[in-house]
Amino acid sequence: MANAEATAESSTVPSADPSTEPSAERPAIAQRPRVAIVGGGISGLAAAHRLVELAPQVQLTLFEASDRLGGVLETVHRDGFLIERSADNFITTIPSAVDLCRRVGLADQLLSTSGEHRQAFVVSRGRLRKIPDGFLIMAPTRLWPVLATPILSPLGKLRLAMERFVRPRVDDSDESLASFARRRMGREVYERLVQPLVGGIYTADPQRLSVRATMPRFVDMERQSGSLIVAALKQRRDDASKSNNGDSGARYSMFVAPRDGMSSLVDAISARLPRGAVRLSAPVDRIARRDDGRWSVLSAVTSPQHPALDEVFDAIIVAAPARHAAKLLDAVDGELAGELSAIEHAGAAVVALAYDRAQISHPLDGFGFVVPLVEKMQILSGSFSSVKYTGRAPDGKVLCRVFIGGACQRELLDQDDDALRRIAHEELAALIGIAGTPLLATVTRWADTMPQYHVGHVDRVDRIDAAVARHGGLMLAGNAYRGVGVPQCVQSGQHAAEQTIAYLLKRATA
Ligand SMILES: Cc1cc2nc3c(=O)[nH]c(=O)nc-3n(C[C@H](O)[C@H](O)[C@H](O)COP(=O)(O)OP(=O)(O)OC[C@H]3O[C@@H](n4cnc5c(N)ncnc54)[C@H](O)[C@@H]3O)c2cc1C
Repeated sequence: MANAEATAESSTVPSADPSTEPSAERPAIAQRPRVAIVGGGISGLAAAHRLVELAPQVQLTLFEASDRLGGVLETVHRDGFLIERSADNFITTIPSAVDLCRRVGLADQLLSTSGEHRQAFVVSRGRLRKIPDGFLIMAPTRLWPVLATPILSPLGKLRLAMERFVRPRVDDSDESLASFARRRMGREVYERLVQPLVGGIYTADPQRLSVRATMPRFVDMERQSGSLIVAALKQRRDDASKSNNGDSGARYSMFVAPRDGMSSLVDAISARLPRGAVRLSAPVDRIARRDDGRWSVLSAVTSPQHPALDEVFDAIIVAAPARHAAKLLDAVDGELAGELSAIEHAGAAVVALAYDRAQISHPLDGFGFVVPLVEKMQILSGSFSSVKYTGRAPDGKVLCRVFIGGACQRELLDQDDDALRRIAHEELAALIGIAGTPLLATVTRWADTMPQYHVGHVDRVDRIDAAVARHGGLMLAGNAYRGVGVPQCVQSGQHAAEQTIAYLLKRATA
């Protein structure tokens, strides 16, 4: 996600029950119940942290298949560069991730995006053009910049201006994001702005992406105001009168990053978990419900540290990606497993490229860019990491990250690392004028890591919730359900932990 703006969308995880806040009295769970968490990405870690915070008497075991915690989150330090292999920041409008940072002692280490150059570009006819000020993914909050932009033709602008006269849809069923955007603003705005912005965030095909699951705010705007433009302009006036700040660039002030990278958040959480709670290189193969209502966690895979598993727990949180969760739960509930495996995933590669500043002719007066499919390039988006946050590159050097793949160009990931490095460097060089070769170039592949919230996703997640509710003591967490951003993952993990405590309390008092 080069442009993570929309990670604020689609957050419907219930917020924490105030009675379970850490300061409240510890819940009276008489015994020392055993709780298993499967998956040590940020969702599983947030669940573990919340459990320990709320009920330290719980005996927690977190099973992680790989030899490190964090899942996709990983920061690498090389030759003075700080390279994020996946997420490089998160939004603060959903406060769960910032709150978690505060609770693990990282509050004073959160960096805001650099105060300069708070803008982004879109590729238009082979050149980087500034995204019109105030164009927020699907709607302009300011008219003049969008009317003045060279990205759209006069006809495209006229069609956009007609948006306020397009009748709102009466049908309540879900719709694809592409259909919604084209219907409201016309084909050109969709192809030149909405598709690359959304594609850059979800690495998804907007023809299949659910507008209700990913951008519910815009569906509400249409329903309530009859027009996205009318609603967006009104929203901007309200915000400006509240904050005296009408600059849409302020959106970038909503993002933060840990000074030492995302791995420092992972490390700070794991340092607060009880000694021995985390088991690395411990993949779970299967979960089974026992006759006494408890849960068996099984694994045939052995490692030098851990023999084959067959352990019993009072409750279990499955925080592995949905397609793994489907396999784990197949024997417990075939219908639930079917719904989980129906959530498709896409993959992407992140190529980090470093240069001397003097090698690049572009002023680098923005945080990055997105590429419309109609431009027929191979890269999806790019981020100027060392412009966005301080401390990402030594003085006089530049760090960029280029994204390749996604749902619309899956075949690109079949190429080897050298080919990906070459594509990333050559296409970036054509956009920002680079002389010579990169100082360093790393490739990270994330196969099948991005859940695709296709049309019907909201209803599917409701069915998953209903199925999970049939199995007392089973909880799910992760990025496949109610938001892919780090804050939503934190929320889902914390919510699963709170539900686990509620289940254990109910069982203790039954
Ligand atoms: C390239 C990229 C860029 C991104 N950029 C941003 C961004 O800028 N901002 C933002 O907010 N979000 C971003 N995201 C999204 C966000 O980082 C992820 O959605 C989130 O980190 C996923 O966390 P998770 O714990 O749900 O899953 P994961 O990180 O996938 O963790 C799941 C864990 O479960 C383990 N596991 C799987 N199966 C088993 C098993 N059987 N037994 C034991 N363990 C198992 C895996 O090994 C893994 O460690 C980005 C994602 C990617 C891939």
